[in-house]
Amino acid sequence: MNLLDAPLSHIKGVGPKSAEQLSAAGLRTVRDLILFLPRKHEDFSSVQPIAHIKPGNVSVRGSFSDISTKRVRRGMSVTQAVLSDGSAKVPVVWFNQSYRAAQLESGKDFLVSGEFGLQRQRYQIVNPSVELAKDIAVSGGRIVPVYPAIKGLKSQLVRKILIELRPAIMGLAETLPDAVIAREGLMSRADAILAMHFPESNEQLERARDRLGFEEVFALMVASLLNRQDNASLESHTITFNPHEAKAFVAALPFSLTDAQRIAAWESIQSLEKGEPMNRMLQGDVGSGKTVVAGLVAYIAAKAGFQTAIMAPTELLATQHAMTLSRLLEPFGLHVGLLIGSLSTKQRKPLVEAVANGQCDIVIGTHALFQDKVSFHKLGFVVIDEQHRFGVEQRQKLLAKGHKMPHLLAMTATPIPRSLQLTVYGELDISILNQKPVARKDIETHIISPNSRDAMYDAIEVQLAMGRQAYVICPRIEAGDDEQASVEEEQKRLQRSVFKHRRIGLLHGKLSAEAKDDVMRRFASGDLDILVSTTVVEVGVDVPNATAIIIEGADRFGLAQLHQLRGRVGRSELQSYCYLVPSTSLKPSERLRELERSNDGFYLAERDLEIRGPGEIYGRAQSGALNLAIANIADTKLLKRAQTAAAHWLDSGGDLLQYEQLKIEVDRYRRLTTLN
Ligand code: ADP
Ligand code: MG
Repeated sequence: MNLLDAPLSHIKGVGPKSAEQLSAAGLRTVRDLILFLPRKHEDFSSVQPIAHIKPGNVSVRGSFSDISTKRVRRGMSVTQAVLSDGSAKVPVVWFNQSYRAAQLESGKDFLVSGEFGLQRQRYQIVNPSVELAKDIAVSGGRIVPVYPAIKGLKSQLVRKILIELRPAIMGLAETLPDAVIAREGLMSRADAILAMHFPESNEQLERARDRLGFEEVFALMVASLLNRQDNASLESHTITFNPHEAKAFVAALPFSLTDAQRIAAWESIQSLEKGEPMNRMLQGDVGSGKTVVAGLVAYIAAKAGFQTAIMAPTELLATQHAMTLSRLLEPFGLHVGLLIGSLSTKQRKPLVEAVANGQCDIVIGTHALFQDKVSFHKLGFVVIDEQHRFGVEQRQKLLAKGHKMPHLLAMTATPIPRSLQLTVYGELDISILNQKPVARKDIETHIISPNSRDAMYDAIEVQLAMGRQAYVICPRIEAGDDEQASVEEEQKRLQRSVFKHRRIGLLHGKLSAEAKDDVMRRFASGDLDILVSTTVVEVGVDVPNATAIIIEGADRFGLAQLHQLRGRVGRSELQSYCYLVPSTSLKPSERLRELERSNDGFYLAERDLEIRGPGEIYGRAQSGALNLAIANIADTKLLKRAQTAAAHWLDSGGDLLQYEQLKIEVDRYRRLTTLN
């Protein structure tokens, strides 16, 4: 048996109990432990006498005395101690790390590494990491790996076992193609893993991280390039356009297109003329005017004899798109249909027929469009609004309805950070609407403590008195609770005790489609002053007269989603207001503060990625794709470099079949990231 596959219980120094604890943490074989990489490294290589330290990062060595922990207020503890080394003493403090007290046996020799600075009116070392000096000796170096904690197991044991496993590490096989290693000047995989566990210098550690991070990202890049190649090899309809007709459409619009809209439309139109399917994402902040871009391209497709299917995530939005697009397209003799689940059989049948025989040029719908019964006469173009809400399978189903592969335009108001454009969305062409149609005022955003809603309600009343309207968004509910009950409750409360003389509507996902439509229509036409809603209104709803939005339970939403919700207001030249009400009166999160500071969706998307990580934002499928242990997904320089290397390798005839491990990774990424 390969040593790498040997169970850890066979290794010297691993007793049955430790083996069990390791196994509970998913570490069963030698390979598992070797690839169990340190969470971080502590640098104890530059220990100074305490008497010499200056503010900044310091490493010192000494023993602790006067160790104490106290709770200062709910949820906050302070652990203090004094560290001395013969040259001087220095106070040390940890916040919310009460376990430290047990670790700091007084009198023992410790290495301490952390920030020395002014905290609570005095100079101290704040939240340092601490290692018993004799454990450092175990790891053999001064740069100490810190492993993710394993329940019940001393971290020192992991280090000891790894020392036993050094020969196995040195025998690790290479996973990257030799040509790539040579071209990029990378360390071998075995050397890199060895250095992660037993670093000799910071430079060596840096190179090891570089190598391992590169490897992760390289696979992702190969995957996205192969997906792109595959897409390009599919046959699609060639849709040519007539500039005169396009001009007529643009001239008939009630406004003139922004430059960004013209460019985006032009990019799509050019893609349609190629024989390969367009695979494009149109990104534009809320209100940037994506719909009309899709409408123009659909118009061109229709004029060339092709049908368009437009998919929206909710019936509400589908209905709104149908209204907008009928207005734009029907004057040109085109037929626009709305196909949603709530249609009666009687309404549905003729529409399905019209789609099948080609009378209906543009059909807009929700999931109902995916039904097997719906077939198209000549589907050439598919628009997916808010694409990240559709699963891969759903997209596949719709795309399969064309005789050839239809052209795809995915529209999203959630800006995709640059790094994800290069990786998860790497196979897409991207068009960006970075310009609002009309100069609009930034939405004024305030965080409101849940104990002081009154001033906020007064401010809302001022807006209502001027004839404006407001949204109240109810918090996202924890699993098990009832979302519907909570919006109903809020509506009643507001009606009873805050806005007695105002007309307050209610919108949530459990309402029938007609009821939703009815409420939305009444709100849109001004028959309602306030709309209390769940996040159903999140995507795309357009009521320009609404100038205020309250988001209750704001701390429960992600940054990008809050930005989307906020985008329901600020849709006209009127000044709009957004009030974020967290569910507790604790200090507001960084996320909410960012929202207060910025109205820029692209900036917020980058911050969201930093704060929450890609998995949280882009859902289950993509989070798997981005399980990067070493590489920082926001490191666009690394991504670019790996992209160039991957393209070069594929161009020069690189063959995945020769690299078993790399192929496994690439195949996994390809499944997770492909959009069609
Ligand atoms: P989103 O990008 O959020 O989907 P919409 O397509 O719903 O934005 O457009 C938002 C609003 O802006 C709509 O009322 C639309 O009619 C209007 N609009 C779009 N383009 C322009 C433009 N070039 N000039 C003025 N108004 C525009
Ligand atoms: Mg929209």
